[in-house]
Amino acid sequence: MDILENSSLKDFNTFHIDVSARFFCQFNTVENLKEVLSEKKTENYDRLILGGGSNLLLTKNFDGLVLRNNIRGISITNEDKDHVYINVGGGEVWHQFVMYCIENNYAGIENLSLIPGSVGAGPLQNIGAYGVELKDVFYELEALHIRNKTKKTFSNAECKFAYRDSVFKNEEKGKYVITSATFRLNKQAKFNTAYGAIQKELEAMGIKELSIKDVSRAVINIRRSKLPDPTKIGNAGSFFKNPEVPKEKYEDLKKIFPDIVAYPQVNNVKLAAGWLIEQCGWKGKTFGDAGVHKNQSLVLVNYGNAKGEEIYNLSQRIIDSVFERFQLVLEREVNII
Ligand SMILES: Cc1cc2nc3c(=O)[nH]c(=O)nc-3n(C[C@H](O)[C@H](O)[C@H](O)COP(=O)(O)OP(=O)(O)OC[C@H]3O[C@@H](n4cnc5c(N)ncnc54)[C@H](O)[C@@H]3O)c2cc1C
Repeated sequence: MDILENSSLKDFNTFHIDVSARFFCQFNTVENLKEVLSEKKTENYDRLILGGGSNLLLTKNFDGLVLRNNIRGISITNEDKDHVYINVGGGEVWHQFVMYCIENNYAGIENLSLIPGSVGAGPLQNIGAYGVELKDVFYELEALHIRNKTKKTFSNAECKFAYRDSVFKNEEKGKYVITSATFRLNKQAKFNTAYGAIQKELEAMGIKELSIKDVSRAVINIRRSKLPDPTKIGNAGSFFKNPEVPKEKYEDLKKIFPDIVAYPQVNNVKLAAGWLIEQCGWKGKTFGDAGVHKNQSLVLVNYGNAKGEEIYNLSQRIIDSVFERFQLVLEREVNII
């Protein structure tokens, strides 16, 4: 196995932060992965699992082993009257898997079109968009324990999925490499077009008879018009989570800020972090090459050669100012390394 030394990570993270890894290795199979995890020269170093690098902020050189997941493969493992079960290698590109489902008319993840990154990273933060989350179609995953190299299967319940959260961001953080995941897709579509601008976009597209392909195209159009393309401007999508507050706290805030943007949930209310940040005057602000995107206050950007630390410090200033104004603590969605 090729283990590179002092290798640049600039092309492996969507913020395009130019830091290096002490050791860097790509693996294509679970056997490959076990082999590299057993290498003597790297065994005492920290490990970082990397997919598409679209949900990380690298703040310094990584003095350890970066393992890039390249495990590929999409195969149907089971089927019943209503569902098809599809096993996908952790290194597959998420959007390509979505496109495979659309082509084959397997429904359930069309709303998750064009989310960057790998399939293996999806469960980590239970990726979600336009009213659908990965957990809605997730069946189980296989993971390899980084230290003792044993395989473990995690069911949907064992992953403890929540809003942009799972067991892999909490008690099992940094312990496993997710090598593959199995999804349960629907043979019959149940469309979810109520969220965001999907309905409006479908109308603009002149769609009369809905298909999952149309929903996917609508989502892709909306995303392309709203979000900066990371190949052109470095970013990692939403930098912060939308804070969730009890209904009473929301009512109190609404009395002071009648325009506050909120999404009622079953037990609480989700507040639009982008609105909170905008109210604090951050939208479009730049500091050297680091900044807050001009159309999307939730998205922090690297216009060129910003350092990870500069973007991190900007995120801290945003958190402090939102707290000062609203007494709400914003949580970062992006993983800080
Ligand atoms: C323009 C843009 C838009 C986005 N929109 C959305 C959105 O709508 N919804 C959403 O939920 N997210 C969104 N994201 C965030 C991102 O796409 C997802 O979080 C995605 O799942 C990250 O995948 P990745 O492979 O790039 O992960 P990486 O950035 O490589 O890794 C993220 C974290 O997961 C860990 N990790 C990666 N692979 C594995 C593995 N196989 N096993 C164990 N740990 C692993 C890493 O160590 C790291 O901590 C967006 C990002 C961008 C740039």
